[in-house]
Amino acid sequence: MIILVINAGSSSVKFTLFDMLDNKKVLATGLIERIGIDGTSMKYSNWKGDKSQGPVDVKNAKDAVKVISERLVDPKTGVVGSLSEIKGAGHRIVHGGEKVNKPVLVTDEVKSILKDCFSMSPLHNPHNLAGIEAAEEVLKGVPNVGVFDTAFHSTMPPRTFLYGIPYELYSEDKIRRYGFHGTSHAYVSKAAAAFDGRPPESLKIITAHLGNGASITAVKGGRSYDTSMGLTPLEGVIMGTRSGDIDPAVIFHIMKIKGLGYQDVDNLLNKKSGVLGLAGIGSSDLRDVEEAANKGNEKCAQALDIYAYRIRKYIGAYMASLGGLDILVFTAGAGENSSTLRANVLEGMEGLGFKLDKAKNDVRSSDIRVISTDDSKVKVMVVPTNEELAIAEFTAEVLGG
Ligand code: ADP
Repeated sequence: MIILVINAGSSSVKFTLFDMLDNKKVLATGLIERIGIDGTSMKYSNWKGDKSQGPVDVKNAKDAVKVISERLVDPKTGVVGSLSEIKGAGHRIVHGGEKVNKPVLVTDEVKSILKDCFSMSPLHNPHNLAGIEAAEEVLKGVPNVGVFDTAFHSTMPPRTFLYGIPYELYSEDKIRRYGFHGTSHAYVSKAAAAFDGRPPESLKIITAHLGNGASITAVKGGRSYDTSMGLTPLEGVIMGTRSGDIDPAVIFHIMKIKGLGYQDVDNLLNKKSGVLGLAGIGSSDLRDVEEAANKGNEKCAQALDIYAYRIRKYIGAYMASLGGLDILVFTAGAGENSSTLRANVLEGMEGLGFKLDKAKNDVRSSDIRVISTDDSKVKVMVVPTNEELAIAEFTAEVLGG
């Protein structure tokens, strides 16, 4: 069963073609970036080892899906004889609101739910929908499946998803915590349980997805119980460019003293804050900030300390929510690759049952692995996330493959 995974963003469309029946093999993968701006280009590689990168004439999502499809059937570098071999397209969708609690076949009703969530996810949902509509037009007859970032968190109880604001704002306007990165949290928590050889139902797991965006999830018996992101991805831990948790009054105060409008503050908190804002070296990439800190830049060292501390605080809070902890999982760009970050997060946590094995933590690998000592009460693991594969698996499941 061949599945095409599409992740349509504001200026890029990423894609991966999987053969689910051939050991979930990646047949081809790539992306088209800088769509709608100068220098639009496409990166493409396939399982045979062909690789290419070059300019393409792509102005929107429909052009993008068309160019991707042409490449997949190209006589020289293509990987399928015809598009009819593709049995389903799985789309990454950010916000599904309250009405979507699992991956679903895309229907007109699903598309209208996705549109209803535009105001809560203005940077993602419109582009995700454009990706679906492009696939409908270009890959005629291929069923589309929507895999929502919010779906895994639909099991959160009211005590974790309600804000302390007038109830009508929830009952009438659906203002509540939704959580994001759900596909990743679901994938890594399941993989950690399988690696550990225990059923997810019996486990208390905390998953720390630490990429450009970052969120922590408390997973109880295989289901999301609480997560750090909220109505939007701005809430929670400090991220590459997002502030994470903040006293809401800071917003009104900044608007007053700086004469800023709400769009400006939105931009400030989403794009100019977090590690970027604290470190002050013009980069939100942890690698740059770690390098500068190692060379003695004190602001960068402080930014890393604040970043790690906020994660530690969430882990402690979620241990209390779950009433203990069996496994802590680190995943995504920084979580998988930065041993310094992992060590910083767990500093001083021995009393809570964490014993990091320094040698194991320092090993660089793309494999799932345990980095705590054998006698550590809580098992600490690094689990590489694979959102594309998770979307392909969900898509095959929905389509009965
Ligand atoms: P996204 O959230 O965009 O999907 P990723 O999960 O790929 O991103 O994470 C990207 C981030 O991971 C980078 O911006 C960087 O901060 C961090 N990162 C990647 N590799 C390393 C590394 N070796 N050391 C520290 N941080 C890293």
